[in-house]
Amino acid sequence: MKIMTIFAHPADTITNCGGTLARHADRGDEIVALILTHGGRIHANSWVEEWRKDEPDQAVTSAGLAEVVANKKAELARAAEIVGIGRVITLDHDDARCTVDEDIVDQIAAHVADFAPDVVIMDYPKNPVVPDSHTTASVMALNGVNRAATYLRNLDGRDEFWVKQIFFAGLPVTVTEVLSLHGIRNDTYVDITPVVGRKVAAMDQFVSQAYDGLFARKLIESWNGECGRAAGVNFAEAFCRYYNETHPHLPVTDHALAVDPVTRHVEYSRVGLRAEYPC
Ligand SMILES: [Zn+2]
Repeated sequence: MKIMTIFAHPADTITNCGGTLARHADRGDEIVALILTHGGRIHANSWVEEWRKDEPDQAVTSAGLAEVVANKKAELARAAEIVGIGRVITLDHDDARCTVDEDIVDQIAAHVADFAPDVVIMDYPKNPVVPDSHTTASVMALNGVNRAATYLRNLDGRDEFWVKQIFFAGLPVTVTEVLSLHGIRNDTYVDITPVVGRKVAAMDQFVSQAYDGLFARKLIESWNGECGRAAGVNFAEAFCRYYNETHPHLPVTDHALAVDPVTRHVEYSRVGLRAEYPC
């Protein structure tokens, strides 16, 4: 399987689906991470905190865009290596972008058609009314995927390409079953327990935005822990699908067939991140 992630900022790929990507990398799937911005502004803690000091380090305060971005890209490259992402592509637009740009949609479409992924993962576009950079990124990503599907060799010099499925990440766990009237819900959970240590280690690389150490463990314990509780495993990443699925028969997962509802709390509680992966 070929998987492409399309996110606004460098760390988004890891926080949203780093564990899922690690599991796919382990079974030999090909993964490309497309990141729309250079990541220089988002959570620039290292620089903000240095400026707050009485005697800030000149090497830090004199850093320009090139140095700030190079540092973020080096963090991302290390995280990608840990997770097993084969290739990282950064389009290097400004982080603060919050309006849709047709040229960026074109760039996304070209990368989608070049790599030809079966699956694309992106943020759920949470607030299309007052879009933030994540929602804008996903609106552009969806349009990029659709644009690749309308390539015509006569006009574009290349054939149309269709993505098979899009998984939206980043929704909180609000409801776990379909009878609720509270609206949108995650419908797909990936058990990341076997690779959770790699997600911790990948987040530990993002030192400049203070995602390392205690924050990495807290975020994964709370967010992926809550997804895990809903999924009946220790840690999970949650997604909802864009397209319906068609099966020859009614699908029931291996997990659903194997799980013991009476003892699943034991499995859910087995790994404590701060003890297992101290920082
Ligand atoms: Zn982000």
